[in-house]
Amino acid sequence: MASATPYFFNTLTRHKEPFEPLEPPCVRAYACGPTVYDHPHLGNFRYFIWVDVLHRYLRWRGYEVELVINLTDVDDKTIARAAAAGVDLPQFTERYARAFFDGLEALHTLPATHYPRATDHIQEMVELIERLLASGHAYRSDGSVFFRVASFPAYGRLARLDPEQMRSTERVEQDDFGKEDRRDFALWKKAKHGEPAWDAPFGRGRPGWHLECSAMSMKYLGTTFDLHLGGVDLVFPHHENEIAQSEAVTGEPFVRTWMHCSHLIVEGVKMSKSLGNFYTLAQLLERGHDPLAIRYLLASVHYRRQLNFTFEAVEQAASAITRLRQLVVRSEQEASRLPQSAPERTTQLDNALQLAREGFATALDDDLNTAGALGSLFTLVRETHAALDDGAADGVTLAAVLDWLREADKIWGLLPVDDPLLEFRIQHAGKEILARGPKVSAQIEALIRQRAMARAERDFGAADRLRKQLAELGIELDDTAQGVRWRRAGTI
Ligand SMILES: [Zn+2]
Repeated sequence: MASATPYFFNTLTRHKEPFEPLEPPCVRAYACGPTVYDHPHLGNFRYFIWVDVLHRYLRWRGYEVELVINLTDVDDKTIARAAAAGVDLPQFTERYARAFFDGLEALHTLPATHYPRATDHIQEMVELIERLLASGHAYRSDGSVFFRVASFPAYGRLARLDPEQMRSTERVEQDDFGKEDRRDFALWKKAKHGEPAWDAPFGRGRPGWHLECSAMSMKYLGTTFDLHLGGVDLVFPHHENEIAQSEAVTGEPFVRTWMHCSHLIVEGVKMSKSLGNFYTLAQLLERGHDPLAIRYLLASVHYRRQLNFTFEAVEQAASAITRLRQLVVRSEQEASRLPQSAPERTTQLDNALQLAREGFATALDDDLNTAGALGSLFTLVRETHAALDDGAADGVTLAAVLDWLREADKIWGLLPVDDPLLEFRIQHAGKEILARGPKVSAQIEALIRQRAMARAERDFGAADRLRKQLAELGIELDDTAQGVRWRRAGTI
């Protein structure tokens, strides 16, 4: 795809701005991931589908995207729920991490580059706290460590906090967890009996949630990176606190562009368990809804607008996808039979294609206007069906329409992929590894099997050699939580 500058609404400046990554064509992006204490619900997936569409759009625009989505597997909520369930924290969170990854797979999202878990990065968090303590941005109090908000004058810039509220620095009572100032927040929470805890030079305990994201984002993406994504409810205090912690340590700008996704409501009202309108993805799939109709619906509203999820809209989404797929099948069947020259009447279809192309790209470049882009796409679907009904299409134009629909679908993920899929399972030490990708030769399949086995046996030297060998044959590998995925170089 030819390059064009995307414009994104940056929460930091409250303006739509041209998006220019620090080191093009690389885009480094961090998306706050799930807290794995429950089955992810529709609102969670609205956000993750937005992250996926943005990821795919940036790739479609020619960027190489490094995307990190973290898993919060230790915080107040995970600890409380695991204790209530009487299950070990790692065992408890693993259950919901699986549910998250299963949902992503059902909804056809592309894998992120990394899915770091907080409990695997305690050392990085401890180091950040030590640096904050050494520079006076943090203080110890009764076994915990707090960030000293008064030491960071830019605090409140992202959330545009009211300066009146900001001025309060009066000493608060000891029962407010020993804070100097009520704005201060915990970087490290003192160990409590029966709770998971880690040793640290400033006392045994566990990290605060905000710190987790600063540690994991800077570890994988560097001290300044291009994009930070989250739900709109994370602007304050989570993202405000991430900025304070990170910039206080590095002295550099943390994130260049902040983007936030709006809420989801169901049938016009807030989703809540008490109203009986709270849906997890798994529940909707059990009711027989097509996961791609849900994907389409969740992607179809601009991300800064509230999305009203209704069952009528899911039905409409399902029929839109059917129309798109029917057109692809019909065009494939008819393209070879139709005249290959372009008689005069088909210029109408050619014009419709040009309009769709332009409308689609213009909409997406304008702060990822998915509603506008899908509008252009489906106008073309309708006009192409009509041209075929009227005998007003030629083979050349029809093939061009088909090519473009496949190109555009790299962003939506609604069409079956070109290549037939190959899937196999590898057994190792009682575990099963699933491998999936486009159909390949028997020689390549054997190499993929050998490499999966080498990895399972933790022979990383052999696994690396086989990865290189496959790369020379044009095959790229992704090791995802669901197993091994391969693809042809240059495809997504
Ligand atoms: Zn976060």
